[in-house]
Amino acid sequence: MPGRHFLQIPGPTNVPERILRAMDRPVPDHRGPELPGLVADVTAGLKQIFQTASGEIALFPGSGTGGWEAAIVNTLNPDDRVLAFNIGQFGHQFAECAQRLGMRVDEVDLPWGTGVPAALVYERLHADRERSYAAVLVEHNETSTGVTSNVRAVREAMDAAGHPALLLVDAVSSLASIDFRFDEWKVDVALAGTQKGLMLPPGMAVVCVGPRARARSEDVRSRRYFFDWRPVLVEMRQGYFPYTPATLMLYGLREAIRMLAEEGLPRVFARHGRLADGVRRAIHAWGLQILCRDPPEYSNTVTAVVVPDGADADAVRRAAVQHLNLSLGAGLGRLKGRVFRIGHLGALNELEVLATVAGVEMALTMAGVRIPLGAGVTACEKFFLEEQLVPVS
Ligand code: PLP
Repeated sequence: MPGRHFLQIPGPTNVPERILRAMDRPVPDHRGPELPGLVADVTAGLKQIFQTASGEIALFPGSGTGGWEAAIVNTLNPDDRVLAFNIGQFGHQFAECAQRLGMRVDEVDLPWGTGVPAALVYERLHADRERSYAAVLVEHNETSTGVTSNVRAVREAMDAAGHPALLLVDAVSSLASIDFRFDEWKVDVALAGTQKGLMLPPGMAVVCVGPRARARSEDVRSRRYFFDWRPVLVEMRQGYFPYTPATLMLYGLREAIRMLAEEGLPRVFARHGRLADGVRRAIHAWGLQILCRDPPEYSNTVTAVVVPDGADADAVRRAAVQHLNLSLGAGLGRLKGRVFRIGHLGALNELEVLATVAGVEMALTMAGVRIPLGAGVTACEKFFLEEQLVPVS
C-alpha cells in the first residue's frame, strides 16, 4: 500500500527518521572507547527526563516487562507483602509478576477506567500497623484503559500514613510524554521501555533507581542474575555493561534525548496534552464514550474508546488496518471487543492526529457504528485552531 502506515497504537510508536539514521551505523565494540561517552550522554539525558538528581539509571535489553521484574527482584524478598491495584491489564500484570516471583500480593480490584485512589492507599497503609507492606506498586499511566494516576497524591498518602513502603512506579506509557517527577514525588523505582515516549523501537527496559531502593537491593535475598541491577549500575558508571548491550539502540536513544531536549520537556508535555485533547473532542463529537471516568485522570498518551452495545471494537480495528493502513490498539483482557485504543504519543503532530481521527471515523462507519461522519475531524480542527498551532521551527 502506498503512503505510510499509521501506527496509532499506544506503543510501539513511530520512530522518527532522525533516530533511524542515528542507529544506521556499524556496530561498535561494546568494550571499546566509543562507549563511555555514549553511556554518559544517555544516562545524563535520561535523568533529566525522569527529573531526578538522586536516581541512577540501569538499562537492560528487554522491555517494560523486564523492568517490572528488575524493580521487584532488587527491592523485595520472597514472602514480602506488596500492595497493588488492579486498575487495568498492566496494573494486574505488574501485581502478577510480583506474585509469581514469590511475594504476597494484596491486589485491590477496582473498576477499569479509574486510577489508583490516593485515599485508598492511605487507608490500607494506615491500617497496616505492623508496617508489613514492603512496597506499593502503581501504574502511572494504565495503557489498557487510558487512565493516568496521580503519583504525587499517592506519595502524599504514603507519607501521611507514615509508612516506609517503597513506591515502585510503572512509567512505561508516560515517560517522556506526561510529566513525571521522580525526585519530587519521592518515587523509589520507576521503569519504562524505549518503544513509547522515547520514540525508539522496542528492545530496552529503562529503570531509574532511587537511593532507598539501591540500599534495599544490597540486602534482599531474591534470586536474580540478569535483572540484578547492582553490576549494571557499577559498570554503567564507567560507561560499560556487564552484558552485551543493545549498542545501536543507545545511539538512537541519544538522538531521542537530543530531540526531546530541543523541543523542551514542558513543550513535549504540552503537545501531548493538546493532541490528546483534540482526540477527546473528536470522540465526544461522535457521541461515543471514553472509558476513563474522571476527566482529571484522562491520559495524554492513549484514549480507550467504548463502542456502543452490540458493536465490535475489533471490527473497527480490522476495518482501519485493512482499508486504511491505520493500526489502532486492541481492547485488552476483559475489555476485548468493548474498546479500541487510540495511541497519541511519541513523535506526533496535529496533522497526523487529524488523519488518525479521520481514519477512525471512517473505520467506525465501515464497522457499522453510526456516528456523524466528519464531526470528529471538525471538532478536532476547531480545537487545534483555538489552541493556536505552535509555529513550526
Ligand atoms: N506497563 C505498561 C503501562 C505498558 O503499557 C506495557 C506495554 O504496553 C507494559 C508495562 C509491558 O511492557 P512491554 O510490553 O514493553 O514488556
